[in-house]
Amino acid sequence: AVNRTVHPDDTLVKVGDITIGEGFFQVISGPCSVESEEQVVQIAKSVKASGATLLRGGAFKPRTSPYAFQGLQDMGIKFLLSAKQETGLPIVTEIMNQTQLPLFEEVDVIQIGARNMQNFDLLREVGRCKKPILLKRGLCNTIEEFLMSAEYIMSEGNTQIILCERGIRTFETMTRNTLDLSAVPLLKQKSHLPVIVDPSHAAGIRSLVAPLSKAAIAVGADGLMIETHNNPAEALSDGAQSLDLPQFSALMDDLKRRLSFE
Ligand code: PEP
Ligand code: MN
Repeated sequence: AVNRTVHPDDTLVKVGDITIGEGFFQVISGPCSVESEEQVVQIAKSVKASGATLLRGGAFKPRTSPYAFQGLQDMGIKFLLSAKQETGLPIVTEIMNQTQLPLFEEVDVIQIGARNMQNFDLLREVGRCKKPILLKRGLCNTIEEFLMSAEYIMSEGNTQIILCERGIRTFETMTRNTLDLSAVPLLKQKSHLPVIVDPSHAAGIRSLVAPLSKAAIAVGADGLMIETHNNPAEALSDGAQSLDLPQFSALMDDLKRRLSFE
């Protein structure tokens, strides 16, 4: 069970030789969407040099409009694997339905996006696979519902789950979502799973990513997922919230200083 009263010890999620969980802080970075092999390889090399330990990139994109860029799909996963080969960074990418699972054989961490947090058939299906799962909180879901979705995965035998707070819908419109910072310590008190924060989707605004990253660390997050792009102005999705590569590097320098103070 995800409940800490049943399992008091912190779960450490292992991705190759990387550990995420209490005492092991990791930064996942990369573009919202994989756009080309050159793009994702360039971003991977840069974020690795800055200190990211996992590469993210969307291949199957859950877009609000069916006419918006839907991702490179199987080619996107192929390009992520090239970037992994070039850099050694394990890859994190979103699955949208269970029929895509065969394409995820070489993917290191399977992401369940906010819009699929209560796709119970998909949760059960990834619960039957042996890979770590990054489960994002739904746009309008409570902490209790979030934990029950993790329970769906765990009920099928997979305990390697990373919870990700990525902002929720509120009355506020100036930010894309409202980062629920109290979810981080609450999730960590109620469950034994690692909790990371995605400040990019929470804010929707590039200039808020650094301050929200620092806030996430202050409330005890076990990691961050930050969108980066080689040319955010031309990004095919989420450019407004993406850091460019020098901005990410500067943020990582700042975060490393803060973490080493602890
Ligand atoms: C993403 O990580 O690119 C994404 C679509 O996030 P979310 O599911 O949190 O909206
Ligand atoms: Mn995105």
